[in-house]
Amino acid sequence: MIADRGLDWRRCDRARVARDPRFDGRFFTGVLTTRIYCRPTCPVKPAKSRNVVFFPTASAAERAGFRPCLRCRPEAAPGTPAWHGAAATVSRAVRLIERGFLDGGKSVEDLADALGMTPRHLRRLFVRYAGASPTAVATTRRVQRAKALIDETSMPMSAIAFAAGFASIRRFNAAFRAVYRRPPTAVRRARRRRAEPVVPRALRRRSGQVEVARV
Ligand SMILES: [Zn+2]
Repeated sequence: MIADRGLDWRRCDRARVARDPRFDGRFFTGVLTTRIYCRPTCPVKPAKSRNVVFFPTASAAERAGFRPCLRCRPEAAPGTPAWHGAAATVSRAVRLIERGFLDGGKSVEDLADALGMTPRHLRRLFVRYAGASPTAVATTRRVQRAKALIDETSMPMSAIAFAAGFASIRRFNAAFRAVYRRPPTAVRRARRRRAEPVVPRALRRRSGQVEVARV
């Protein structure tokens, strides 16, 4: 049974059985035997296919007489006000982190405080909406800033570490290595090599510069 012509029943059913998160918020499943409706990602054991109908929105499910599941909380699905609220909070937090909130010795607890929630709730929102912890987001930003400074300036590494927001050179080196699999100095050396003037091959051959360079 298809409750809405805009939904492909078989695709919805496959997504629901697989708990495919890509479909979260794009349809809701009504279970005919319980009159409960769920998100595609509901952790409860999926109902038999012959017992389900699909709705494009939570309100369509409710109008058809289904009530929201208490486990998967359809009211917090992507696209809903609760979801937008949480996503907006995380965007705000990410902007604060990008402006260096966590770089000046402030902690995730301080960040949660600034946003008016518990650190635990903030961490949970981050994992769900940003796919990483606040600390990881801050570290990524620092490494990106450092990489830009390595590429665009000739500042010494120690100055880059602090300008990028790292609390110590040791942390800068460790975070940089974790991302680029090499120390920051190696990235700069590679850049210097690339930046050396290149003599066209034909010219080198004619003037014998290749041999000179090999000596
Ligand atoms: Zn559910």
